[in-house]
Amino acid sequence: MLIFDDDTISIRSVQHFLYCQHRWGLLNIDDVWAENAFVTKANIIHKHVHNSDTMRLRAGVKTYYAVPVFNNRVEYNIYGVLDCLEVTTNVGGKIFSIVEYKPTKPRNTDYNYDDMMQVYAQKICVDNIFNTDCNTYIYYADTKSRVKLTFNQCNKELSAQLIALLSRMRAYSKSGTIPPISSSNQCSGCSLKDVCMPYSVIKIHKTTKEQIITMVNEVIE
Ligand code: SF4
Repeated sequence: MLIFDDDTISIRSVQHFLYCQHRWGLLNIDDVWAENAFVTKANIIHKHVHNSDTMRLRAGVKTYYAVPVFNNRVEYNIYGVLDCLEVTTNVGGKIFSIVEYKPTKPRNTDYNYDDMMQVYAQKICVDNIFNTDCNTYIYYADTKSRVKLTFNQCNKELSAQLIALLSRMRAYSKSGTIPPISSSNQCSGCSLKDVCMPYSVIKIHKTTKEQIITMVNEVIE
């Protein structure tokens, strides 16, 4: 049975929290919102996917779009909407595959940690609902290619990381505290930069030369 309560967390906000805890706090505790080109691009892609037919059948694979999922085991208590769930039927039974759409492939890696944890949280839900061990992919719109994520060998470690993360998010939500800005944040693509003004906080840790180099690097990125 699906029960939403004050502790239920959306998988999307898990990804927000991992991208930048301060940004997550501004979005979820202060109800701030602002868009930039990156957010608009991601919204267009997800809108396109979620507006697709609810289900397509091609070459024996049923593809479902905008699929709601949840896992209400007390240590998780999460829900989300999958971009896409593929179901392949063969002699051995059904094979489930999650496909998460992202606009841009990272430069030096197959996937970012926050995206990987988002997909892992989706897997926790799908595996729980269908009693399976589903495949997981990220599809990058810019390269029109899929990257497979393999979780089997590190499930326990990732589960522990996810549970610890959810517990920190609940603690911040309950206390109404916005997590502090970290100097390691990648702020150049953040739509909340004008609201957050990270340099006014981070600058106390940086010399003027370091601040200028950081700003120049952001402009040329
Ligand atoms: S500008 Fe940087 S520190 Fe501020 S919310 Fe965005 S990513 Fe986080």
